[in-house]
Amino acid sequence: MSWSDSTDDMRIATLLAVLFSLATSSTALAATKAIKFGKLVDGTGRVFTNAVVVVEDDRVQRVAGGNPPIPSGAEVIDLSRYTGIPGLIDAHTHITYYWDGVTTPRSEPPRHPAVVAFLAQENAQKALEAGITTIRDLNAPNGVDLAMRDLITMGKMVGPRMFVSGTAIRITRSTAPPAPLGIMVDGVDAVIRGVRQVIASGADWVKMHGSTGGFDDVTQFQTFTFEEMKAAVDVAHALGKKIAIHSYGPAGARDAVRAGADSLEHGADIDAATIADMVKRRTYYIPTIDHNQYYVENADTVYRFPPGAKERLRDYIQRNVETARKAFRAGVRLIMGSDAVYNGWGLNARELDWFVKIGMTPEQALKTATTEPAAMLGMEKSLGAVAPGFFADIVAVEGDPLADITAISKSENVRWVMKAGRVVVDKTQATQNTK
Ligand SMILES: [Zn+2]
Repeated sequence: MSWSDSTDDMRIATLLAVLFSLATSSTALAATKAIKFGKLVDGTGRVFTNAVVVVEDDRVQRVAGGNPPIPSGAEVIDLSRYTGIPGLIDAHTHITYYWDGVTTPRSEPPRHPAVVAFLAQENAQKALEAGITTIRDLNAPNGVDLAMRDLITMGKMVGPRMFVSGTAIRITRSTAPPAPLGIMVDGVDAVIRGVRQVIASGADWVKMHGSTGGFDDVTQFQTFTFEEMKAAVDVAHALGKKIAIHSYGPAGARDAVRAGADSLEHGADIDAATIADMVKRRTYYIPTIDHNQYYVENADTVYRFPPGAKERLRDYIQRNVETARKAFRAGVRLIMGSDAVYNGWGLNARELDWFVKIGMTPEQALKTATTEPAAMLGMEKSLGAVAPGFFADIVAVEGDPLADITAISKSENVRWVMKAGRVVVDKTQATQNTK
């Protein structure tokens, strides 16, 4: 190759780079998109056949069924072999819990927070591939969740929209290593300071651990007192923030609900009076049933839990399911939360299978991952539905989720995902090749 050839190549490369950047910056988002679905379940209770969703920038502009005309000049995305649903919301995650596939989770080597933020992009990608376009992330060290949220909002990192709690509030207690993550506080004054500190750090929510329990530990001891929980709830609400309280057992759950927690996380053996109180107070309940099933499946190969752990987890699952069933029948507002950690990312929507098992219709189950969490997040006018004015968070799945929830819960059925008007997952070609 001569010098002149090389210079020409460089000119062409530069020109292409400029054209490419123009193309991506000016047309990728600005163009009107018309997305065709064989069927569209819009999340508000309506189902359209031969639907067209018109997307302008990051929002849905209009939705219609019956093969409506395509706006002239629109980019047509033909997904007519799939069913369209709203982007899913996973209301209990741990995106910074990254596993490299080699070390044992929770015994990983110490990593710089910036390294964790970088690595956790893999979890973010898996969430999108499972159809999750929004998460509420409940506990992360060193502000990594805040950083990821902001990078994703800036469009500099690809991942689900994030509502985050920063670092969780816990009581001091001695445990076997690894030491628990969280701001450790005891007593009402310290709780107030801790909650204010979390909110000042930029958190959207507050997360409080009202009991023991987590991973292979299924103990249910209440940690914070009612007075401490009440102080946390009041100070969070006074600053315009909501609070999620974790409780594996009935005592912590009772006091969390009585204290006015906006959402109760996990929970087995919750008593009837507390369930009635949750209905009255409209407390959201995120039972996170599937994460213990995922621990059972990975107990030996990944987590290396001690002997007996699987039996304890299975027993807890039974009681967790029973409590969720009672709560659902009583009219408590259940919400899908995977409690995704490590290699649990990508299995986020499996929780919906449990919801159908406890008696929900697939349509009711879908609501626990769309309109209900959107309302909990105060985003009911822009998330959880494919409707005019809402963010264009849309998922194409194989099959009919209203007939069989596995069309959503099995992530291999998720073929295409749009988040805020941008296509972030596209496996439609892969399907064609395999058929
Ligand atoms: Zn959790």
